[in-house]
Amino acid sequence: MSADKKVTFKKIKATGQMRKIMADYFYDLDGAVKDETQKVAWCTSVGPAELLLSLGFKVYYPENHAAMLGATRQATNYIPVANAIGYSPDICSYLTSDIGAYLKKETPLSRAYEGIEGIPKPDVLVFNTNQCRDVQDWLAWYSREWNIPLMGVSTFRNIGEISDEVLAGIVQQLKDLVPKLEKISGNKFDIDKFRETMAASKECTELWEKVLETNMASPAPMSFFDATIHMGPAVVLRGSQTAIDYYELLLKEMEERLADGVGAVEDEKFRLYWEGMPIWGKLRDMSELFIGLNTAVIASTYCNSWIFKAFDPADPFLSTARAYTEIFIVRDEEYKEKYIEDVVRNFKLDGILFHDSKTCPTNSNNRYGMPERLEKRLNIPSLTINGDLNDLRCYSEEQAKTQIEAFIEQLEAM
Ligand code: SF4
Repeated sequence: MSADKKVTFKKIKATGQMRKIMADYFYDLDGAVKDETQKVAWCTSVGPAELLLSLGFKVYYPENHAAMLGATRQATNYIPVANAIGYSPDICSYLTSDIGAYLKKETPLSRAYEGIEGIPKPDVLVFNTNQCRDVQDWLAWYSREWNIPLMGVSTFRNIGEISDEVLAGIVQQLKDLVPKLEKISGNKFDIDKFRETMAASKECTELWEKVLETNMASPAPMSFFDATIHMGPAVVLRGSQTAIDYYELLLKEMEERLADGVGAVEDEKFRLYWEGMPIWGKLRDMSELFIGLNTAVIASTYCNSWIFKAFDPADPFLSTARAYTEIFIVRDEEYKEKYIEDVVRNFKLDGILFHDSKTCPTNSNNRYGMPERLEKRLNIPSLTINGDLNDLRCYSEEQAKTQIEAFIEQLEAM
């Protein structure tokens, strides 16, 4: 096998529809900024989006914007700008690239969507620290810059069992947000709207999970690299019928692939788990490399992070607290190892690839002996590559390629 052979990408037909609904989403946000009667909230990616939507806010996710900066390979132009105002090169490169881009008055949104001049200025900034502290600091910067209210939820982290006390604390924080958000939105909180939005999010989440689970089949129909793009609507459009319709379409296509025996990788020989953040600026190169090695990277913690099984419209506050607390990133090592073990077994994986992402310690699970423990427990090899989600200066393509090729040779020899 050679990583340098000519490779064939299997284009996902639904991509055109995804591009359209993402464009509509950004135009809608842009329209809301220009319309004084509409209010915009910024929300961290696993923040209380359903609550905000139910209060009539248009919701923008700065992490999605930062991932665009990474995917368009612009991030490294902006990170030093944020470093110059005191934000360390060692902290989240989503944060530094996003703030740097703002300071340079540039955004990939203007390049992608004609007529959009900038990011949508919000009326409120809402965080959930379930994933890391950086999201709060990130929004705090904009809060100071624009003098806009900042509020959110502080979550316990490194949790094993989720106790009632933990959930009660988060429920209270969510309820405390309501009067403040009512004042900003000008709308009265309506629990039925909250339930409806949650029901739509739940349907979106279940469809997205089904899409990801088609990869239990061999050959697997969708690569991790495709999934990082196609999860966009689950991130920014959850809570809407548009997202539901999109995942019905995508699921149908993946089921057709299953029926026709079409895999994302021609002649699939090995199946891998990707643990950690994507390297946004290298998705295409990585995808090409693995196709060339007849290796399907088909399961990940990252894409599974937008599966919120606990959503329950009958109890929207408690189930919001549960859904956004039980995600992988919030949990302790024991939970994480068991989670990965289950995925490895269910998806019949041959190895685990850990991405040690320089500026995202919370999503780099290789640092405290987990790869070694999982190798022993599952009797499969793992590989750790060094890189970063957005800062490509932390990533050596040559080194990663050599490591990955050697890893596949190791799998062949087993
Ligand atoms: S989880 Fe990592 S990538 Fe995401 S905002 Fe936090 S530090 Fe940045």
